[in-house]
Amino acid sequence: MDQLMAGAYTFLPLGFRVLKKIEEIIKKNMVEAGGQEILMPVLHPKENWEKTGRWQNLDILFKLKGSGHKDYALGPTHEEVVSPLAKKLVLSYKDLPFAVFQIQTKFRDELRVKSGILRTREFLMKDLYSFHATLEDLANYYEKIKKTYFNIFKEIGIGKDTYLTFASGGSFSKYSHEFQMLTDAGEDIIYICNKCKTAVNKEIKHETPVCPSCSSDSFVEKKAVEVGNIFTLGTKFSLPFDLKFKDKDGNLQPVLMGCYGIGLPRVMGAVVEASHDEKGIVWPKNIAPFLVHLISIENSDKVKRVAEKTYNNLLKEGVQVLYDDRDDKSAGEKFADADLIGIPFRVVVSEKTLAKNSVEVKERGKKTAKLAKLKDLVKIIKL
Ligand SMILES: [Zn+2]
Repeated sequence: MDQLMAGAYTFLPLGFRVLKKIEEIIKKNMVEAGGQEILMPVLHPKENWEKTGRWQNLDILFKLKGSGHKDYALGPTHEEVVSPLAKKLVLSYKDLPFAVFQIQTKFRDELRVKSGILRTREFLMKDLYSFHATLEDLANYYEKIKKTYFNIFKEIGIGKDTYLTFASGGSFSKYSHEFQMLTDAGEDIIYICNKCKTAVNKEIKHETPVCPSCSSDSFVEKKAVEVGNIFTLGTKFSLPFDLKFKDKDGNLQPVLMGCYGIGLPRVMGAVVEASHDEKGIVWPKNIAPFLVHLISIENSDKVKRVAEKTYNNLLKEGVQVLYDDRDDKSAGEKFADADLIGIPFRVVVSEKTLAKNSVEVKERGKKTAKLAKLKDLVKIIKL
């Protein structure tokens, strides 16, 4: 990553590959949960934000002036766009339920930005919006997305450290939920229930002495970072935009909504916090920029030939390989770079390994390397 200014980062090639893999996992799970992908504008008219009162009340809203002194907002979230959009499409109960999502850059004019990519002014986010005719249908979908979120975090590699956390509900329901990943670098404090393992955030802990899920009063305090959140919005946005549907009796009813967010760079930052050692990152396999970091050392003709053969064989098997064939770097420098980048498997070809008719395989995060025959390499890596 490269910092352009506080809160704005460029994703360089390796980091961008990680971001795209996180995006693919999220996208696949959203589609499986019935979401249809769309893309809404980043640039919003002031009028939509005035309708909900958030032009004045949302302090992180980026505002800008266009030509003719017209006012615009840069979207920090898209209820002000998706609600009037749904109004054009939803006529009757037969049009419900449905859910749409997008993966798009959001803007938040944060007063302070810190912790690298954990809190930035511009970031890629997945936002899903669901639309329902009944409270029961909304509640069922909300529970479904809870499970979907845990599946996403499990696939990304942070499932076992991530806790469903009760947070304040805002205008509609008593609670919303955050997904909090434990890390000492986190800016949030959560209290994990010793009995049922759900958590409450600091705000909720001050309001209630017992677990909202199981009524136990025994908690353990931990530092965490929020990697996702879900809200039941109810009629909060359908009312200002007059988003209504005709029920079975022909009466007009407000549509009920839910919204569900995941910040992608934040998830990526959380993974790095959760999975690193003193030498660098240890990427989980599913989101690693490559699966294999192939290194040739003392580049003799024979070493080069075998390394290139290994590279091509792995590519043919669909294995993503970063091939370090630099002639001007020592073995030590190449190993240090491999540890820093954190690709799951390091494969070394050298005169020493070739003397044993083998290549050396080492898993990032493990202490020992082992020799493997070229023909067995794919099997070892894909296990
Ligand atoms: Zn509990």
